[in-house]
Amino acid sequence: MKPVMTLAELQELTPAYDDFAVIENCNIPDYYKTVFPSHCKCGAEIIMTREGRTQLQCCNPCCWIKMAHRMSYFISFHGFKDFGEQTCLSLFSACHDVLPYYSFLSAFSLSDTQLAVGLSDNKISLLHEIKEELQHHAFHFSDAIASLGIPNVGPLSPLFDVVKSPLVLLQYMLQGKTNELCDMAGIQAQSTRFHLRTFDIDVLLLMRDIMPNIMATPKGEVFVAITGKVSVRGQSYTRAEFIDLCESIKDQSGTQLYKLVETKSREKLQYVIADTPSNSDKYQIGRQLGKLITADEFYEVLLSAVQKEETATNEEKEENANGA
Ligand SMILES: [Zn+2]
Repeated sequence: MKPVMTLAELQELTPAYDDFAVIENCNIPDYYKTVFPSHCKCGAEIIMTREGRTQLQCCNPCCWIKMAHRMSYFISFHGFKDFGEQTCLSLFSACHDVLPYYSFLSAFSLSDTQLAVGLSDNKISLLHEIKEELQHHAFHFSDAIASLGIPNVGPLSPLFDVVKSPLVLLQYMLQGKTNELCDMAGIQAQSTRFHLRTFDIDVLLLMRDIMPNIMATPKGEVFVAITGKVSVRGQSYTRAEFIDLCESIKDQSGTQLYKLVETKSREKLQYVIADTPSNSDKYQIGRQLGKLITADEFYEVLLSAVQKEETATNEEKEENANGA
């Protein structure tokens, strides 16, 4: 989408800002009207809620200052250091006019010469390293989308209850059907709906250029609680290592089969993994619900489900071969 320079334009696009006004028309003492800047550095009008006098912001969703903040959020979300807010502001302050798309992700496609206007050589090579890492790692779908910093779309957004695959999300976006998606997911907030629609370009660039390895949410989400030290086949694991081990189980085509989701919710819990009794809350909940299992047993349960499936497909193949 194109930059939105005035509140009037923004209000034509979405009802989400109906309660807002430009500073001049806000219900604040006249004195303050000269204290707040009327326009953002990007040139767009500054707005806030007319009566409540909150949510002071620039009215332009493609504001380069907002892009800088989202870039910084994106980079730190993925655990990179030394490329913080100031660096991002300097980058976008210098380069916003030459971005090929109205997306913060297009900063990744700028040339070194373009970047050099806003970044030191050091930071430019850091940006290359970040880009390289992102291109070669695999990411979970919901994490990848959540890292875009779309307001109210975090990793636990109800969006991910209805869409499990990056391609499906992309299809909805390309067909301009994000509102349908929001209806299905029960997302009513107009601003979330508006931002999902507006930032479809970010999703597109993310999948096409930045993170080619986004994995669909695995079929088998398993809700677990893990308590104490665990070991599998005589080897001990930290919680994170154990989760990695379980999530590394793949089927014949190499598709990840399970995603372990840690929860304390009694309604969701399927297993409480504990090798030894303890007084921890998790252990007590597991005991009450009759859902205790050792790490060894749990791992075997996951494996046996894969083996069953594979035997079934092999038998099917044999039958087909025999039938032919
Ligand atoms: Zn702005």
